[in-house]
Amino acid sequence: MSEFSLIERFCHGIGQVQDSTIIGVGDDAAVVSVASDSQLAISVDTMVEGVHFLPDSDPADLAHKLLAVNLSDMAAMGAEPKWATLALTLPDSNTQWLAAFSGSLDLVAKRFGLQLIGGDTTRGPLTLTLNIMGLLPKSKALSRSGASVGDAVFVSNVLGDAALALNFLQGRVTLTESQALAVMPALNRPEPQVPLGRGLLDLASACLDVSDGVVADLSHMARLSGVSIELDVADIPLSEVYQDYLAHGGSLDLALTGGDDYQLVFAVPKGLERSVKDLARRLKLSISRVGQVVKQSDELVKLSLNGSAFQLGNVQGYQHFT
Ligand code: ADP
Ligand code: MG
Repeated sequence: MSEFSLIERFCHGIGQVQDSTIIGVGDDAAVVSVASDSQLAISVDTMVEGVHFLPDSDPADLAHKLLAVNLSDMAAMGAEPKWATLALTLPDSNTQWLAAFSGSLDLVAKRFGLQLIGGDTTRGPLTLTLNIMGLLPKSKALSRSGASVGDAVFVSNVLGDAALALNFLQGRVTLTESQALAVMPALNRPEPQVPLGRGLLDLASACLDVSDGVVADLSHMARLSGVSIELDVADIPLSEVYQDYLAHGGSLDLALTGGDDYQLVFAVPKGLERSVKDLARRLKLSISRVGQVVKQSDELVKLSLNGSAFQLGNVQGYQHFT
């Protein structure tokens, strides 16, 4: 199939059409309108076969995850996702693969009100890059740098299931069939917390999404905010499967440093904790308090368990270059 017909067949009409899109797929560049009381949030994430996903992964899962990791960045800023461009590097033009990828991309994009407005298609080792753009009310963006001493720290849903699923696939963790089935969506089809991010715009002093493990990610928040963050590891929310893994000799390391969680972790000034509870109820979401912001010291993230220091058995967070 030619590059032109591939784009025509699999990259046109993906996602939800926006009134503010002036020119979409098909021209030299896309053109969009942005109202003067809005700001653009822009982010890009790449997934490389063999690095971010296992060879022969399900193309529908890959499309979901590619969108989810980028949508999660919008969520972390409190932005409303609007547009995306897609750079596809493919080893060949397998139409079955492309149809599954494109169908899943369309479904998830529509669900989050996102439109695919352009991209690039090349041949090479399977590499998926999505550039995402969203809108924010002027000067309202949630940043990593706003946490203050005294703020409470919260996290959405549960941590560690994606890392548990990956370690199961790699044969390093044993799970029953039903347990494996229960944690696999956390790895392959994470749900980006876009509505939560929007709801935190007038509430959180700092926010980020957990992609490299909550300890590594919170250390970024602490460094950029000029504070330290105390985490009580007993308060880290865990799924039933993870709790069972712990009860059978598993460790908390996967939940603390495993990564790929795509939950939001955020700081909230004293006095607004009630509003967090209300927001959780309104969004039918579980939100747990996991720690507090303290004066900066040598240790950016201090882990404790029932009042005494807690040691990680592992290196902190995934890094591509060490
Ligand atoms: P150019 O030569 O200007 O780079 P291309 O031939 O690469 O243009 O692309 C033609 C049109 O198709 C452009 O509008 C581009 O944005 C779009 N396009 C190419 N690849 C993709 C893709 N993977 N997803 C979405 N749009 C794409
Ligand atoms: Mg091109």
